[in-house]
Amino acid sequence: MKLLWGDLHNHCGITYGFGALEHALEAAKSQLDFCAIIGHAMWPDMPGRTDATAFLVDFHNEGFAKLREDWENVRSKVKEANIAHEFVTFQGYEIHSSAFGDHHILSPSDELPLEYAASPQDLADQLAAYDAIAVPHHIGYTPGYRGIDWEAFRSDISPIVEVFSKHGCGMSDSSSYPYYHTMGPKDSRNTVLTGLKKGKKFSFAGSTDHHAGYPGSYGDGRVAVWAKEKTRESIWEAIKAGRTYAVTGDKIACRFSVNGAEMGSSLETSEPRQLVLDAECCDYIDKITIYKNAKPWKALAGESLVRKESQGGIGTYKVRIELGWGSEREGYSWKAKARVSGGKLLSVDSCFRGQSVLAPEPGMRDNPDMNKLGNEIVAQSEEGLAWTCTTFQNPSTLHPATAAVVLEIEGDEATRLAVQANGMEKEVSVGELLEGSRSMHIHSYNSEALLIHRAVPKSAYQVHLEWSDTEKELETDVYYAEIRQANNQFAWISPVFVS
Ligand SMILES: [Zn+2]
Repeated sequence: MKLLWGDLHNHCGITYGFGALEHALEAAKSQLDFCAIIGHAMWPDMPGRTDATAFLVDFHNEGFAKLREDWENVRSKVKEANIAHEFVTFQGYEIHSSAFGDHHILSPSDELPLEYAASPQDLADQLAAYDAIAVPHHIGYTPGYRGIDWEAFRSDISPIVEVFSKHGCGMSDSSSYPYYHTMGPKDSRNTVLTGLKKGKKFSFAGSTDHHAGYPGSYGDGRVAVWAKEKTRESIWEAIKAGRTYAVTGDKIACRFSVNGAEMGSSLETSEPRQLVLDAECCDYIDKITIYKNAKPWKALAGESLVRKESQGGIGTYKVRIELGWGSEREGYSWKAKARVSGGKLLSVDSCFRGQSVLAPEPGMRDNPDMNKLGNEIVAQSEEGLAWTCTTFQNPSTLHPATAAVVLEIEGDEATRLAVQANGMEKEVSVGELLEGSRSMHIHSYNSEALLIHRAVPKSAYQVHLEWSDTEKELETDVYYAEIRQANNQFAWISPVFVS
């Protein structure tokens, strides 16, 4: 099985989002294996048009009409972008529903027609011939205000549920990342935990719901799948089997099983349950929690992971290089290089973001180049890498608009890392970085800056954990895992259902 990364729910200028479809596909290819490009298509129970709702109703209706007119063209561009073993796309579009919650339709068929229905469930049934599924998203909103309706939920048409996006986290009313969009707060009745308590069966997915054409935008939600191959057929099979999980941004690699049954599966057994979790994170592990029947069952604190790397021995380290800050609202372009000496660069992950947009605001105009940011790793070898990116002034002090790369380096404490970025130069050893981070500025004030984060030794980011459970609590016991890193990046790993 291969671990592949995607974004199945994001928006661009094909409806009421921003940025060209072509640039959105380029952005997706630069850091994902697969994506769906979703147009807003309908809202059957939209509020009536009054002076107060005119802006909302009009931008929705204009967006829906735009997709209608351009549907054949959108569908053919998405089809063209699907190249087996290189980059995989899916067809889809979105139905809003005040009563049942918003859903995006996904299909592996390039013939998927744009059809209309009164509810997401009706729409999925209508599109059954195209193997379509309906994925509930931003589920945590208040019932009747576009949050999920668990009573109407059906596993057969919704094998996965989007649990994290730019809207926030829908796992529980107390989980990190509360909802602060204009659509309002979340409500415990509409969370993942409540759905699992009601006996609903589904797997987890993350996707950005980005509205400025940047699928996979770092920190806004991504989905992982365990698929046989990087093809549409294999990834679709994995989605329908529930071999998916959600991350906020960092590509936290996880396997989770009970008695060998992988995440997303149902298992019948009278044997003791052997739980196994393997995780390779991208930062210090802060906490790992196993939930049983929607309650924390086992927890591991990152502090208990003892640093095993011995003085002088060869080890593996992760080092994050982050660029951004400053006061440039229109975008600041970077050209950067990192060189590793006395060690080897094993791999690189990118943490590139699009411009932070979640919905149109009065006065916003589409700019097709809004999502042409040049975020790209342009060269990579065992000696180092070169990359380009665009960053923006952070929208608030709690909301970053930076760009980063995460280097996996094999070496020892004497291994050196030299970073060059827009005239800045910084060289530092892994030993020094294990003691702490290093930052540097370009100008004397309000400056763009460079941050080389504290190095993370493998013993602090990789774990293999096993538990045994002999206690049957319910007819079907549900186990799932949550991983939190020190930098507040999460993975929510889909359940195994044990009867
Ligand atoms: Zn959406």
